[in-house]
Amino acid sequence: MRDFFHGRIISVAIVLAFLVGCTPSSEDGEGVAPVKSSSQVFRWKMITTWPKNLPGLGVGPERLADHLRVMSNGRLDIKVYGAGELVGGMEVFDAVSQGTAEMGHGAAYYWRGKIPAAQMFATVPFGMTAQEMNGWLHYGGGLELWRELYEPFDIVPFTTGNSGVQMGGWFNKEILSVDDLQGLKMRIPGLGGEVLARAGGSPQQLPLAEVYTALQTGVIDATELVGPYNDLAQSIHSVAKYYYYPGWHEPGSTLETLINKDAWESLPPDLQEMIAVATRAINEDMLSEFTAKNNAALNVLIEEHGVELRAFPEDVIYKLREISKGLVKESMQENDLSRRIYSSYMEFLESVENYHRISEQAFLEARADASTN
Ligand code: CA
Repeated sequence: MRDFFHGRIISVAIVLAFLVGCTPSSEDGEGVAPVKSSSQVFRWKMITTWPKNLPGLGVGPERLADHLRVMSNGRLDIKVYGAGELVGGMEVFDAVSQGTAEMGHGAAYYWRGKIPAAQMFATVPFGMTAQEMNGWLHYGGGLELWRELYEPFDIVPFTTGNSGVQMGGWFNKEILSVDDLQGLKMRIPGLGGEVLARAGGSPQQLPLAEVYTALQTGVIDATELVGPYNDLAQSIHSVAKYYYYPGWHEPGSTLETLINKDAWESLPPDLQEMIAVATRAINEDMLSEFTAKNNAALNVLIEEHGVELRAFPEDVIYKLREISKGLVKESMQENDLSRRIYSSYMEFLESVENYHRISEQAFLEARADASTN
């Protein structure tokens, strides 16, 4: 009986091997080894830095979990938690590092107090756009440096979303010149806040949940958030009058999925591949959604809520840009890895900027001129 079954298993294995051998080969023409699958179910927790289901940013991880559940036929079952449900929004990195949750979603600049160089993997004032960040991270060596940076914390990062160029923020007083930045109490985190401080302002660190009341009561004069699609949902327009552009401090904020290293290594290769592909899909999907919905939300803010749109004056942008250049470099001198990350980022930016000057930028200017004629 035992020999019978043993023989059957070998026969099935031979048939399977034959079938696999007959399937189309991979792109490079070489056959690929069949990936071992298993029926093991992985029930994971994914903690996030966002309020549950926040448009765009908070919806991304929910969609990621949905895709993975379907793609894996239920073998990767991820429950998504909003900020504060399991751990606080600013505790996501540590909780994934320690394995309290297998997975997290946030933005790398939130961890710059612990790892200063993390800022470069979210966004940099006057730095790269979404398209440029994706180029650097996926084809310019950025992702490898990011993994090296998080390695000591037992975290594997993936790109999972981008806001595109954000708005400059909400203000209750007009900014007509650099003088108006003096003493300006603005909620603006990260390097952007440090730039504002050097320009004479007073950056404040406030969680999203407290921004509304702080503006209403005059504790702050201004706040940056994201862009119209997100900001409309936060109702900030009812406590701030002027909506400034552009978001010089966040030109293309990359969002991240964090995976605990042990959890990642416990997965079979097919589930790992699904995560690698699905995070890339959400990375692109979130930017598409913001692109589609930002302008409609901006129209609602202006036409239905009387929000006044304003551009930062040229001298303000000039001042902030000059301060940013020096500050970003200074902030990346911590150690050899920081300096390598800074060099890689700046070399890529310079190269892509040269090309974008005659492609994206030249075209957008050409199209704008044509539309006004
Ligand atoms: Ca922001």
